[in-house]
Amino acid sequence: MPSLGLRAVIAGLFCLLAGSAMAEPSVPVLVYHRFDPAKSGLTTVTTSAFEQQLDWLAAHHYSIVPLQSLVQWKNIPQPAVAITVDDGHESVFTQLYPILRQRHIHVTLFIYPSAISNASYALTWAQLDEMVKSGLVDVQSHTYWHPDFRQERKKRTPADYSAFVDMQLARSKSVLEQKLGISVTMLAWPYGIYDQDLEAAARRAGYQWGFAFAGGQAQPGSDPLAIPRIPVSGGLSLSGFAALVAK
Ligand SMILES: [Zn+2]
Repeated sequence: MPSLGLRAVIAGLFCLLAGSAMAEPSVPVLVYHRFDPAKSGLTTVTTSAFEQQLDWLAAHHYSIVPLQSLVQWKNIPQPAVAITVDDGHESVFTQLYPILRQRHIHVTLFIYPSAISNASYALTWAQLDEMVKSGLVDVQSHTYWHPDFRQERKKRTPADYSAFVDMQLARSKSVLEQKLGISVTMLAWPYGIYDQDLEAAARRAGYQWGFAFAGGQAQPGSDPLAIPRIPVSGGLSLSGFAALVAK
């Protein structure tokens, strides 16, 4: 039977161990939307600002890790960031993709397939296919047509709403998988709207990871179906970007 003093030391050691376990890695998962050579906006970042941000990350020894690696939380270098781009705007192909190829950077695109090869602002299936084949771009789901689930819940009966949610989640996954020959296991919640019912529906539809639209840095202990992300808006100064990324 250890003495009281020894027991206090052992208890102290356990506290230390618990403390070090709590200092788990954390990684900012950045969200972009659109890129433009000249104009910035709330969801549009100029290509020069984006390149300055990449230069800043490189100068500060950040690794840009694929989201697929991040969610496994194995051998994630520190410091690191992951880059995601929502909505499938055509500038992802015309502005972002050349930079990805030049710098060999991996990103994940969250796509709502109803817009692809359909809406005038959106990417085409051929563009997505080319980017996927480059090995630099992972395509995942942003539901089928990017609904506001909060509004849909208000205007539908419970049964109709539930069927609508299931359709948005399942159809997006199956269309992306069929058209691009990929495996879709990730979902970015449109407008960052999610709750326990939506998370349960995502699990039923076969998603393993979901991404929020706020909440700071991702950590191994984050809710796997609501992993935080950090939106990067246009017009953000480089020092603003540094503050966003820093812990
Ligand atoms: Zn979106």
